[in-house]
Amino acid sequence: MTLYSMKMRASRTENGKSEHISGAERILPESALIENAGAMIDRALHHAKGRADYIQVKIEEARTEEIGYVEALPVSTVETENAEEGRKAIISLLRKIGIENGDAVLRKFHETYNMRGAMLLDVDTLERLEPDPARGIRATYMDAEHGENRAACTVKNHFQEAIVLASKVSSAPHILAEICVSDDPGYVTGYVASKKTGYVRITRLKEKDDPNGGRIFLYRGSRNDVPKTIAYLEKKKILVKNAPASPSSMPSADPWRVLAEDIRRRKDSGLYRTIKTLESAQSAHVRAKGHSLLMLASNSYLGLIDHPRVKRAAAEAVQRFGGGSGGSRLTTGSLPIHDELESAISRFKGTEATLLFGTGYMANVGILSALGRKDAIIFSDELNHASIIDGCRLARARTVIYRHADMRDLEAKIRAVRPSFGVIVADAVFSMDGDVAPLPEIIALAKKYGLLSMVDEAHATGVIGKTGRGLAEHFGLKEKPDVVMGTLSKALASEGGFVSGRQLLIDYLRNTARSFIFSTSQSPATLAAAKEALAILEEEPERVARLQENTRAFVDALAENGVETSSESAIVPIIVGDEWRALQAANQLYDEGIFLSAIRYPTVAKGSARLRAAMMATHTEDELRAAAAKIAAVLQRLM
Ligand code: PMP
Repeated sequence: MTLYSMKMRASRTENGKSEHISGAERILPESALIENAGAMIDRALHHAKGRADYIQVKIEEARTEEIGYVEALPVSTVETENAEEGRKAIISLLRKIGIENGDAVLRKFHETYNMRGAMLLDVDTLERLEPDPARGIRATYMDAEHGENRAACTVKNHFQEAIVLASKVSSAPHILAEICVSDDPGYVTGYVASKKTGYVRITRLKEKDDPNGGRIFLYRGSRNDVPKTIAYLEKKKILVKNAPASPSSMPSADPWRVLAEDIRRRKDSGLYRTIKTLESAQSAHVRAKGHSLLMLASNSYLGLIDHPRVKRAAAEAVQRFGGGSGGSRLTTGSLPIHDELESAISRFKGTEATLLFGTGYMANVGILSALGRKDAIIFSDELNHASIIDGCRLARARTVIYRHADMRDLEAKIRAVRPSFGVIVADAVFSMDGDVAPLPEIIALAKKYGLLSMVDEAHATGVIGKTGRGLAEHFGLKEKPDVVMGTLSKALASEGGFVSGRQLLIDYLRNTARSFIFSTSQSPATLAAAKEALAILEEEPERVARLQENTRAFVDALAENGVETSSESAIVPIIVGDEWRALQAANQLYDEGIFLSAIRYPTVAKGSARLRAAMMATHTEDELRAAAAKIAAVLQRLM
């Protein structure tokens, strides 16, 4: 079978300087080329480091007789607590390989910083052997050996890639060992690899936030053989057999250590999540740890969670129907109140029919996995909510990501694939930025290409449009998207998700959406609370106007204090950038009586951490102005 070497390199030019974004390589059969090329390009265009503006994909034939096979090095782990312990671990491993001057070798390590390739070091004389020291040696042309079936695995696997590289390098003539430290400031684990020791991960080789890293190949042999070694590293095509795909697929891995390491990495990079518990109902002011706080992070946009009518309706439903629903909707779990709420939502949204789900998350997962049939393509905005992303992942359809709210990009992508069945899906209000999807254009494109249009109105229902009916009302459109998804968990002060649209759509989803079919239906209290909140919203549209005025007042007040933001909804993103700074700002504001969320990677892209303020109709303008001044002061202090 003929194989192909495929390489991708992506970069981005900023202020005249080209920055490496992502690189990848595989050795693949022809049948896997297209899919892998697509995945590589997709990665380059949606990378946490930024969007590549230059992508090169190179494909070369690799004839069978050119390919060498080596066995993957066995993997083990040495736990270290700090960089000094890591250094000692390297020196001790080198000693096992017969290298006594590990200390002197490591003193050369700083020379590798900023090199794209590796240093080739004569381990005895400590002379550098690379022909071009600025470039270094680049070990390439390698992949894990996959059977026919696994060749289509398009996900980048850093763990396996590192083992493949180390296994190739260790098999090169005259190479005794490799030392590698990542240049990712958040990644402190590195390794020493050699035929003698195997691939030894060292859990901590540098301090957090240290952007320095590099690679040394340790050479022992005659100068005459150096070109042969370099040719092997840079040109010889190698497939590595039995390379483990993850630390947990290694037979001797301690599963608790794998989890503990993951958590430590999160803590090191300011991404560890904890829970804050409230001791009161969620309204404009809440109590936590005995203190009163101004709530600027709630999704209860209309402040209806503790409205007396909502509470009474829930209590009465419990009195009448009890605690739970006892089954899924298609078995024993349907009560009159389910039907009543579905009808009320259909009326409110101006659609033929509605179907309820346990949560908004389940609604998205259920709708998209059901509409995303095998023959379909889902076109999804790059900033869509995680529940949409997960729905796309569960769908058998292929997902094509389009640039945020970029209709030219969307149309180009539709034209490129011309699906026979497909869905365009977007958050109506984007949950981390507060901007709205360009619905008129989305509907027009859906019509033009015979696709379904879908919006997630989680943050739109009760929030945008004159009477809170959502995105179509916001744009003054008579025409609705084909699939209107929403949640009962935000302005509607309860929990649950829904989808509204044509009767045909609802009939289809009732029969195919697995998160609807295979999960217990909502409980009486939940349904009654949502139904009453919806009734209040319809009776008192002035609450929506109040919410919209509050957002304007808050954005203006921030601007008066030197913090520029904008919002088309009730979500006001205050971009901070650095993860730690966002976290510190949220913590300091918490101590000063303001509850705000610090939103960080992976919810938003790395380096775009933010404070996410959410307005409520029940805030007063005075308290929002005072909060804006405090936020500005805290950000100023943390500059
Ligand atoms: N879609 C969006 C845009 C959301 O923000 C959320 C919740 N954060 C959901 C869906 C999921 O809704 P729920 O919380 O009701 O599961």
